[in-house]
Amino acid sequence: MKIQATTNIGKTKYVFQIEDEDMEALHLAAVLGNAPDYCPLCKNDKFFALDSNKDKEGNVYVNVVCKKCFAKAKLGRYKAKGFFWHKFEKYVPKGTQKDTQDSPPDNPFNDDIPPAEEPSELPF
Ligand SMILES: [Zn+2]
Repeated sequence: MKIQATTNIGKTKYVFQIEDEDMEALHLAAVLGNAPDYCPLCKNDKFFALDSNKDKEGNVYVNVVCKKCFAKAKLGRYKAKGFFWHKFEKYVPKGTQKDTQDSPPDNPFNDDIPPAEEPSELPF
Protein backbone atom coordinates (compact mmCIF):
# COMPACT_ATOMS: atom_id res chain seq x y z
CA MET A 1 0.00 0.00 0.00
CA LYS A 2 1.22 3.47 -0.85
CA ILE A 3 0.23 6.51 1.11
CA GLN A 4 0.73 10.02 -0.15
CA ALA A 5 1.02 12.89 2.29
CA THR A 6 1.32 16.51 1.30
CA THR A 7 2.30 19.49 3.34
CA ASN A 8 2.92 23.14 2.60
CA ILE A 9 5.84 24.95 4.12
CA GLY A 10 5.95 28.55 3.07
CA LYS A 11 4.89 28.53 -0.55
CA THR A 12 6.38 25.15 -1.31
CA LYS A 13 4.32 22.01 -1.42
CA TYR A 14 6.00 18.82 -0.31
CA VAL A 15 4.68 15.43 -1.27
CA PHE A 16 5.73 12.37 0.65
CA GLN A 17 5.31 8.87 -0.63
CA ILE A 18 5.19 6.31 2.12
CA GLU A 19 5.54 2.66 1.34
CA ASP A 20 3.57 0.01 3.13
CA GLU A 21 2.09 0.66 6.50
CA ASP A 22 5.12 2.11 8.09
CA MET A 23 3.71 3.75 11.18
CA GLU A 24 6.88 5.67 11.87
CA ALA A 25 6.94 7.12 8.38
CA LEU A 26 3.28 7.99 8.75
CA HIS A 27 4.02 9.75 11.97
CA LEU A 28 6.89 11.58 10.33
CA ALA A 29 4.60 12.75 7.54
CA ALA A 30 2.09 13.93 10.12
CA VAL A 31 4.77 15.83 12.03
CA LEU A 32 6.10 17.35 8.81
CA GLY A 33 2.56 18.35 7.96
CA ASN A 34 2.48 20.26 11.23
CA ALA A 35 5.73 22.08 10.70
CA PRO A 36 6.09 25.24 12.75
CA ASP A 37 4.49 28.21 11.04
CA TYR A 38 5.15 30.92 13.56
CA CYS A 39 8.55 32.30 14.48
CA PRO A 40 8.39 33.82 17.96
CA LEU A 41 11.70 35.58 17.39
CA CYS A 42 10.52 37.91 14.64
CA LYS A 43 6.76 37.23 14.70
CA ASN A 44 6.90 35.87 11.17
CA ASP A 45 3.99 33.61 10.38
CA LYS A 46 4.20 33.42 6.61
CA PHE A 47 7.66 32.83 5.23
CA PHE A 48 9.29 29.51 5.94
CA ALA A 49 11.36 26.99 4.07
CA LEU A 50 12.15 23.36 4.66
CA ASP A 51 15.83 22.69 4.81
CA SER A 52 17.85 19.53 5.28
CA ASN A 53 21.51 18.80 5.52
CA LYS A 54 23.81 15.89 6.14
CA ASP A 55 26.69 15.76 8.57
CA LYS A 56 29.95 13.85 8.15
CA GLU A 57 28.45 10.72 9.65
CA GLY A 58 25.60 10.80 7.17
CA ASN A 59 22.96 11.82 9.67
CA VAL A 60 20.24 13.87 8.06
CA TYR A 61 18.97 16.94 9.82
CA VAL A 62 15.72 18.56 8.86
CA ASN A 63 14.91 22.14 9.76
CA VAL A 64 12.23 24.65 9.13
CA VAL A 65 13.93 27.96 8.49
CA CYS A 66 12.34 31.33 9.14
CA LYS A 67 13.00 33.31 6.00
CA LYS A 68 12.86 36.60 7.86
CA CYS A 69 15.40 36.12 10.64
CA PHE A 70 16.87 32.71 9.65
CA ALA A 71 15.95 31.12 12.96
CA LYS A 72 15.75 27.36 12.69
CA ALA A 73 13.39 24.83 14.19
CA LYS A 74 14.92 21.37 14.06
CA LEU A 75 13.10 18.16 13.53
CA GLY A 76 13.93 15.91 16.44
CA ARG A 77 13.45 12.22 16.92
CA TYR A 78 12.47 10.49 20.13
CA LYS A 79 14.40 7.44 21.23
CA ALA A 80 11.16 5.54 21.67
CA LYS A 81 10.09 6.33 18.09
CA GLY A 82 8.31 9.39 16.92
CA PHE A 83 9.25 12.88 15.82
CA PHE A 84 8.78 16.38 17.09
CA TRP A 85 9.77 19.95 16.31
CA HIS A 86 12.22 21.82 18.48
CA LYS A 87 11.50 25.45 19.21
CA PHE A 88 12.94 28.06 16.89
CA GLU A 89 16.53 28.92 17.69
CA LYS A 90 18.07 32.24 16.90
CA TYR A 91 20.30 32.25 13.85
CA VAL A 92 23.97 32.81 14.70
CA PRO A 93 26.15 33.50 11.64
CA LYS A 94 29.19 31.27 11.33
CA GLY A 95 32.33 32.85 12.68
CA THR A 96 30.56 34.71 15.43
CA GLN A 97 29.91 31.65 17.56
CA LYS A 98 32.14 31.61 20.56
CA ASP A 99 34.07 28.38 20.60
CA THR A 100 35.95 28.07 23.85
CA GLN A 101 37.63 24.84 22.88
CA ASP A 102 38.50 22.92 19.76
CA SER A 103 36.02 20.17 20.33
CA PRO A 104 34.11 18.54 17.51
CA PRO A 105 30.82 20.21 16.65
CA ASP A 106 28.09 19.64 19.16
CA ASN A 107 25.45 17.13 18.39
CA PRO A 108 22.67 19.41 17.20
CA PHE A 109 20.18 17.34 19.13
CA ASN A 110 19.73 17.32 22.86
CA ASP A 111 21.73 14.67 24.64
CA ASP A 112 18.72 12.54 25.34
CA ILE A 113 17.54 12.76 21.75
CA PRO A 114 20.01 11.02 19.45
CA PRO A 115 20.09 11.75 15.74
CA ALA A 116 18.09 9.50 13.53
CA GLU A 117 19.56 6.04 13.70
CA GLU A 118 18.63 5.15 10.17
CA PRO A 119 18.62 8.46 8.36
CA SER A 120 18.57 6.76 5.02
CA GLU A 121 14.97 5.87 5.75
CA LEU A 122 13.98 9.49 6.00
CA PRO A 123 12.28 10.62 2.82
CA PHE A 124 14.86 13.18 1.90
ZN1 LIG B 1 11.99 34.62 12.46
